[in-house]
Amino acid sequence: MEEYFISGVHNYCDRWCERCPFTARCRVYADEQELSEEAKDPQDPAFWQNIRKSFEGVLDMLHKMMEEMGIDPAEVEKMPTPEPDPDLKALEKMTREKTMRYADAVDQFFQQDKAFFEQKSDELADQIEEGKPVDLESWQFFQDAVEVIRWYQYFISAKIHRAVTGLEDEEEDRIQNDSNGSAKIAMISVERSLGAWEVLRRQLPEKDKEILELQRQLQHLRAEINRLFPHWAQFHRPGFDDEPGSTVRLDFNPN
Ligand code: SF4
Repeated sequence: MEEYFISGVHNYCDRWCERCPFTARCRVYADEQELSEEAKDPQDPAFWQNIRKSFEGVLDMLHKMMEEMGIDPAEVEKMPTPEPDPDLKALEKMTREKTMRYADAVDQFFQQDKAFFEQKSDELADQIEEGKPVDLESWQFFQDAVEVIRWYQYFISAKIHRAVTGLEDEEEDRIQNDSNGSAKIAMISVERSLGAWEVLRRQLPEKDKEILELQRQLQHLRAEINRLFPHWAQFHRPGFDDEPGSTVRLDFNPN
């Protein structure tokens, strides 16, 4: 069974297990399925016990790796923390602000237009009740697009932040490094979100101006990713970049 898992497939995925074609081959997913309901609930002490157990497991693994490399973990702990690069700190701050501006604008869009969306749902329900013809496929596609936007709105920020933070690590491989991997999944998320907004824009001509502004923000993030991580596309994501033909889920949401 162990050899059937794809090593590292979960490292650069979007954590949307519900829509992932690799659940059967993902160690993280398999581990999560074994957890009890209590262990998945942050209100329950079992959840925190499980987090602690995972943390201890990671520490043990890191210590073992360091020993194998001839590094003494106790010596590493005594080493002074290097001063953060001020340019990198400024870049982190700038990208965090831009990505959070987008995430907040998405929240605002759905909050301000809550009544509008409820009305659209009610209209649809009435049409169904009255036996009028309803384009359920388009409606489902629309709902999917909203889910995609919501799923990625904060994820983009987290991944771009991680990619920028990793720029400090100059000793890593030029292509296959954590910054490029994080940038790649951030870029995929940005492009899926752009496509999903386009679905909404076509269905909601009255929201054209607001949606175009959100798409403009995403386009800007896309340009920033290309500028800061010119090699992101060459990064190889285990699993996802090996079997791309099996991972298409929605036509605006290719893997
Ligand atoms: S690879 Fe797929 S199944 Fe595994 S954690 Fe990521 S989204 Fe979930």
